[in-house]
Amino acid sequence: MRTEERQIFGEYIKSEGLKETAPRNRILNAFLNSEDHVSAEDIYLLVNRGKRKVGFTTVYRTMKLISDCGLAREVMFDDGIARFEHTLGRKHHHHLICTRCRKVIEFTSKTMEDAEQALLKKNEFELQYHKYEIFGLCKACREQVGHK
Ligand SMILES: [Zn+2]
Ligand SMILES: [Zn+2]
Ligand SMILES: [Zn+2]
Repeated sequence: MRTEERQIFGEYIKSEGLKETAPRNRILNAFLNSEDHVSAEDIYLLVNRGKRKVGFTTVYRTMKLISDCGLAREVMFDDGIARFEHTLGRKHHHHLICTRCRKVIEFTSKTMEDAEQALLKKNEFELQYHKYEIFGLCKACREQVGHK
């Protein structure tokens, strides 16, 4: 499982003159087994559930390596915490972010992308990149705070 990712990471590590170490592999595994949008802190907690501790700096640096080799992308929402999401085999998408529980829902919208194309054309504006982030309360949180 996840051989492709492991191979990409292994080759990148080698090309950087670094070694595949047990902590690096544990961090990679934790990331590969995690859901989308995990922070370095989340990964740190995940890898340290075992007995042998991995330092936060190692986690942070390894997450950078995982990003640099193209397996993850850093995303930043409103709270200033860098989170990492998987990139391999993922399509272009956007996010709905719950400000209460920090749940992140991914979405794609052809309507939005088409509206943007029209807007760009009208303003003779060349796109470099875009992101749509919508903040609010998810269904579970709405129920908990009594918003119908
Ligand atoms: Zn929520
Ligand atoms: Zn995402
Ligand atoms: Zn888009």
